[in-house]
Amino acid sequence: MLQTSNLRLLFSPLKPFLPFSFSKPKPYSLFTIFSSSSSSSRRHPTTPSHQSRNFRSRSNSTFSRETNSKSRERDKGLPMEESGNETFGFNKRKAEGRDKSDKPKRNLQLKVRKLNPTNTISYLQILGTGMDTQDTSPSILFFFDKQRFIFNAGEGLQRFCTEHKIKLSKIGHVFLSRVCSETAGGIPGLLLTLAGMGEEGMSVNVWGPSDLQYLVDAMKSFIPHAAMVHTTSFGSDATAQLGASNFTDPINLVDNEVVKISAILLRPSCSEGSAGKPGDMSVIYLCELPDIVGKFDPEKAKALGLKPGPKYGELQSGKSVKSDHQNIVVHPSDVMGPSIPGPIVFLVDCPTESHMQELLSIQSLHSYYADYLVSSPENVKTVTCIIHLSPPSVISSPNYQNWMKNFGSAQHIMARHEMKNVEIPILKSSARIAARLNYLCPQFFPAPGFWSLKQVNSSKVDSSFSGKDCVSKFPESISAENLLKFTLRPHAHLGLDKSSIPSLMAPSAVIQELVTEIPEIVGAAQHVRQLLLGSAETKGDMTLVQDKYAVPSCLEDIRRDDLEIVLLGTGSSQPSKYRNVSSVYINLFSKGGLLLDCGEGTLGQLKRRFGVEGADLVVRNLKCIWISHIHADHHTGLARILALRRDLLKGVAHEPLAVIGPRQLKRFLDAYQRLEDLDMQFLDCRSTSLASWEASEGNSEYKHHSASGSPNNLEDVNKPAMNTESTLFARGSRMQSYWKRPGNPVDNAMNFAVLKGLKKVLNEAGLEALISFPVVHCPQAFGIVLKAAERINSVGKMIPGWKIGYSGDTRPCPELVEASRGATVLIHEATFEDDLVEEAVARNHSTTKEAIEVGDSAGVYRIILTHFSQRYPKIPVFDETHMHKTCIAFDMMSINIADLPVLPEVLPYLKLLFKNEMIVDELDDVADTVSEVS
Ligand SMILES: [Zn+2]
Ligand SMILES: [Zn+2]
Repeated sequence: MLQTSNLRLLFSPLKPFLPFSFSKPKPYSLFTIFSSSSSSSRRHPTTPSHQSRNFRSRSNSTFSRETNSKSRERDKGLPMEESGNETFGFNKRKAEGRDKSDKPKRNLQLKVRKLNPTNTISYLQILGTGMDTQDTSPSILFFFDKQRFIFNAGEGLQRFCTEHKIKLSKIGHVFLSRVCSETAGGIPGLLLTLAGMGEEGMSVNVWGPSDLQYLVDAMKSFIPHAAMVHTTSFGSDATAQLGASNFTDPINLVDNEVVKISAILLRPSCSEGSAGKPGDMSVIYLCELPDIVGKFDPEKAKALGLKPGPKYGELQSGKSVKSDHQNIVVHPSDVMGPSIPGPIVFLVDCPTESHMQELLSIQSLHSYYADYLVSSPENVKTVTCIIHLSPPSVISSPNYQNWMKNFGSAQHIMARHEMKNVEIPILKSSARIAARLNYLCPQFFPAPGFWSLKQVNSSKVDSSFSGKDCVSKFPESISAENLLKFTLRPHAHLGLDKSSIPSLMAPSAVIQELVTEIPEIVGAAQHVRQLLLGSAETKGDMTLVQDKYAVPSCLEDIRRDDLEIVLLGTGSSQPSKYRNVSSVYINLFSKGGLLLDCGEGTLGQLKRRFGVEGADLVVRNLKCIWISHIHADHHTGLARILALRRDLLKGVAHEPLAVIGPRQLKRFLDAYQRLEDLDMQFLDCRSTSLASWEASEGNSEYKHHSASGSPNNLEDVNKPAMNTESTLFARGSRMQSYWKRPGNPVDNAMNFAVLKGLKKVLNEAGLEALISFPVVHCPQAFGIVLKAAERINSVGKMIPGWKIGYSGDTRPCPELVEASRGATVLIHEATFEDDLVEEAVARNHSTTKEAIEVGDSAGVYRIILTHFSQRYPKIPVFDETHMHKTCIAFDMMSINIADLPVLPEVLPYLKLLFKNEMIVDELDDVADTVSEVS
C-alpha cells in the first residue's frame, strides 16, 4: 500500500512507526548545538551544508542567533546523519522559547553620523509605498549627504527600499505624522530588520505623537525592548500641561548643523481641552535648513582698506572689524554677498475637517505666512515646499485651499493616494515575475488585479479627488508620483525633479523581453494550456488522468467556485523583492474566505491579486483570520486588514471578525486596540484544537471529521481520533511545560460561546471543521486543518468535502502528519533546501525533502511548498525526482481546486521560466539593504 512505502521514506525500517519516537533524549542535546552564526559571507544556495554556517544571518524576526560558544561547539562537526533518519530532530531551546539569551545586546547601536554643514546634496523624495495598491501611506525620504530621515513607515516600506536600493541602515530617524496601521504598519518589521543588522544590531530613532506609546506597548509582545529604546513620543498631555507653552507650539526634535526638524501637534477641534481619543493626534513637521552664507568679496575688503589676514576670517564669521587703512568700521554685510535663505519644508497631515479647524488657528505658523512677511520683512521665513499627506476630501475643501494660499509661491506636493498611480507597479521586479508567470500559466497565475483598471480609472477619478482641482487653482501644486524628488541643495537646482519617476511598464513589453530571452517559452506556454485543457476534458473520468495516484473522491464534479488557494506571500523572515512574507488566502468565492497567517504587506498583496476594490471585497467577506505563531513574518499585516475591515463595515450590521492565534497575539491585539479599534474577537489556537472542539461540542462528532480525510485511506476510518495533547504535548512530556501553563484555562464557558459562534460562521462558509494543532517551532506554534462539508455528487452519492492542511512554521512532527492525514492539499513550509538540514534543525524549520516526506506519510493528495528562505530569491533549490505530487509556491499563485490534478505537472515549466536565474544569487540585492552598516 502506498502509505506503507511512504513511511519507509521517513523512518528507518528498524524503527517502528507508531508511536512517533520523540523520546530519545540524545538527539536533542545534539540538535541544540546546531546554530547559525552571524558571519556575512554571501553563499550560493547550493552551498554544501558544512559551509552553511557562513550564511548571512537574518534578523528572522526572532533574534534567534545562537551564542558564539555554541557555534564553536558545532564547529566540532557533529554529524547530522547520526540522528537525522530515525526521527526529526529539532532545536529544543528554540521550541521552548529558551533562546532569549541569544537576543541582541541590550543597547542596539544608533549609528553615529558625521555631519557636514556644507551639504552638497539634499532632497525630498516620495517613496510610493502603497501608491499603486492604495493600502498604506506613502513615505517621504529626506535625504542629506550624511543623514537620512523618513516620514511615515507604512507596510511594505522595507520591501520598497530593497527594490529601490535605499539603504535602511543609513536612516537615522523615522517620523510619524499619525500613529495608525496606515502610517506605522512597517515599523515592527523595520525595527526587527535593523536589530538583526551587522554584528551588534542597529536601531533607529522613531518619533511620533504620544499615541506612539500605545504602539510601543503593543509591540512589546513580540519585539525585544532593546529594539525600541530609541522610540520617542512627544506632546503627551503631561508635557503640554507642564510647559507654559501652547499646545501647538513647535516641539524641537532634531537640531543640528544641517537641519532643524520640529513638530506641531494637530488635534481635532472637538477634543480641545480634553485628552482626545488615541489615534486622533496628527503632526505637522517643519524642516528648516540653515541659510547659505554669502560669498566673501576680497575686492570690496581691499577697497575698504583691509589687509588680507585674520580680519577676513572674522568678517566671514559675522564680526565687524576696524579697517586697516581707513578710519571706519567694516561690517560683514559690506564685504559679503547676500546670503541665501535656507529652504523650509512642511509636511502636513490633516486627516479630518475637525483637525482643519485647529490647523487654521495655529499661531506659530503665522510667521511662515506670506502676508506676515509683508508686515515684518526682517523675519523672512519663506516656505519652499509643502508635502500634503492630508486626504483628498480635506485638501479639496475651500478652507484648506485658502490655508494653502497663505504660503505664497511654495511648491505644493499632494502625496496622498490617487488612482492615477494604480497602473504603475511600485514593486517592478515582482510585477515582472508575475507577468511572466501569467504568460506561461494564466490558470495558476491570473493577471494582477490592476491590469483591468481602465474602467476603474474612468469611473473613480470623477467621483473622488483627482488632483486636477488643486492643480488648476494652484499653479504650484503637483500630484506626487513614485520617486518624485524636490531638490533643496544645491541651491541652483532648487525645485522639482521628475527624472527618477519610473515609467509605466506594459505587460506586453515584459512578455516580449521574456520571449527573446527564453524562446522555448512560447511552446511551453502552449503545452501548459493543453495540459490544463486536457485535465478539464478528462474531468468526468479523472482516474484516467496520467497521474499515478487516484484522484480523491472529494474532487468529483468539483466546481471552480468551490475553492481557490491564493499564496499571497511565500517567503520567510522578511519581505524581499520577489517574495513577500507568509499569507495564504483561502478563497471560498461567494461564501467568503479565510486568511491563514497575515505577514506585513498582506493587504497590498491582496490588492495586487484582486485589484483595489476586489481586495476590499475580500476583506469585507473574511470569515476569520488564523495566525500560526507570533513571529513577525506571520502577523504584522493583521492590524491593517482589521482596520480596513472596520472602516469598510462602518454602518453595516456585522459581527467582530474571529482572529485565531497564539496567545501572545492576544497580548499584542489587546494593547494595540488602545490605539485603534480592530473590531475583532480573539480566540486562542488551543481553543480550536480537536480536544477543545470536542469538549465544547460534548460529543464525538469531531473524531469522525478529523479522520475521514480521504476515502483512499481505509486505514483512517479505524484510526483513533487525533488528540493533540495525547502525544507531543502530553502530561510529563518534554514539551508539555510550555504547552500548558497554569493559569491559562482554555476550556471555559466563555470560550465555548465563542467557539459556537465560530462554528456557525464556518458552517455558513461551507466548512465543517477548523482544527489547530501544535507544531515544533517556537512556543505556541500551530498548524491548521480545514475541512469542507460533505456534499452530494452527480449520482446522488454523499462524498467527503476537501481537506486542507497548513503547517505554519515547523520541523516535521507527528502531530502534523496525523492532522493532515488524507488531506486533499497540504501547504507545508520548506524554508531550506535538502542540503541545509542542519540549518533547518537549528531554526526549527523544514527542508523541501522533509516537507514532502510529511505529505507522503500523511497520504495527502497534493503538496504545496512555501515559506522559502529569502536566500532563494526567485525559485528555491529542489530535487525534481520527489516532486510527483508537489508544487512550489510563488507569490500570487492561485490554485483552483479543480486544477489540483495537473498541479505537479506544471512545475517543470515553471522551472524553465527561471532557467537562467536558478544559479544567480540575487541575494546581493537584499544584502545591499540589509548588511550595509556604514
Ligand atoms: Zn516564518
Ligand atoms: Zn517562525
